[in-house]
Amino acid sequence: MPNFSVSDDVFVRAAEQFPTPFHLYDEAGIRRTARTLNAAFAWAPHFQEYFAVKALPNPHILRIFREEGCGADCSSECELLLAEMAGFSGEEIMFSANAMPPEEFDHARRLNAVINLDDISDIDLLLAHGGIPEVVCVRYNPGGEFHLGNAIMGSPGESKYGWTKEQLPIGLKRLKELGVKGFGLHAFLASNTTDNSYYPRLAGILFDLGAEMEKACGLPLRFVNLSGGVGIPYRPEEKEADIAAIGEGVRQEYVRVFGANASVGIKTELGRYMTGPHGWLLTHAVHEKNIYKHYIGVDACASNLIRPAMYGAYHHIHICGKRNAPADHVYDVTGCLCENNDKFAVDRKLPKVEKGDLLVIHDTGAHGFAMGYQYNGRLRSAEVLYTQDGSFRLIRRAETPEDYFATLL
Ligand SMILES: *Cc1c(COP(=O)(O)O)cnc(C)c1O
Repeated sequence: MPNFSVSDDVFVRAAEQFPTPFHLYDEAGIRRTARTLNAAFAWAPHFQEYFAVKALPNPHILRIFREEGCGADCSSECELLLAEMAGFSGEEIMFSANAMPPEEFDHARRLNAVINLDDISDIDLLLAHGGIPEVVCVRYNPGGEFHLGNAIMGSPGESKYGWTKEQLPIGLKRLKELGVKGFGLHAFLASNTTDNSYYPRLAGILFDLGAEMEKACGLPLRFVNLSGGVGIPYRPEEKEADIAAIGEGVRQEYVRVFGANASVGIKTELGRYMTGPHGWLLTHAVHEKNIYKHYIGVDACASNLIRPAMYGAYHHIHICGKRNAPADHVYDVTGCLCENNDKFAVDRKLPKVEKGDLLVIHDTGAHGFAMGYQYNGRLRSAEVLYTQDGSFRLIRRAETPEDYFATLL
């Protein structure tokens, strides 16, 4: 079930204060999720969530995570700058890039960030760009297909990320020769899964592998990084992930492999799970069109939220003031791009929509604004924080034509 913890009154007040479209983020909800996650892993030595900056790259949000004891997972120069802007430094930053300009290693090393190497060849790049730190994390790719029970959760063999198993002992021995004192192990094998067995399963794989590599290379395993991938219920019939059960499942694997008194750390890099349900795209219905189908045109478009256009992703929509009205109409809810996939919903059952209605598009708090673009000369929207004291704070203004033209020479 999507998140209905914020009342329509809040959405209406926000839309009175700021012109639509904009993304609204709920500070209290974000903090609640951070605390629940930290509590679920309170048993784990050196537990650290590194919020995946790409999910919601706004320093105001990053500062909230910093206050909740989280770090920042970055994979580009600008994300490193955002993390710095929000006050993160040293081991509070994870740098997890792939195929990036090598200068970004220099930057990450200047910040003393934890480095996660996507490829064995990155050892030489890091050596030449900032040098090798005492602890290095490496990203594992098991190849083939990744199953949970009977379900295929992903195809690591088709994914560009990580090292093969054969490369691990070779690279780790090399890192040891270069002065490394301990290593971390990372993998990201399933995306947006609410299956509570994903993290425990992944943890089991990485714990076993880490223990095996410790023996093979004589280098101690310092931490396991479970990365992102814990999902959220975008659809009304979907269930939330139970993070307490997930933490307990990971703990059982930990005890199985290392025993109860080990000091191997646990890290996560969750993005979607942390902020996804705590953001909404607010937009007004501005057109109604009846041809072969019934269309509601809104003042937002795929530039503000591309997931439906790009992946056919489902985002729940409700109409302010009509939560309990019968969904007895069927609409395509569209933006204004000259691109027919610019639809937030296709054949969606909704109550009758009137021009001027305020539509709330759910679960835009991660990979929402962040994936915005300017195709068709449509500009990116504002971002507004619904603060803990009940007021609204503009944390990013909407783009103007001046922004659009700013890079032209
Ligand atoms: C995208 C990404 C994440 C976050 O993924 P979510 O699905 O948002 O949890 C974490 N780590 C890395 C390396 C990523 O690329």
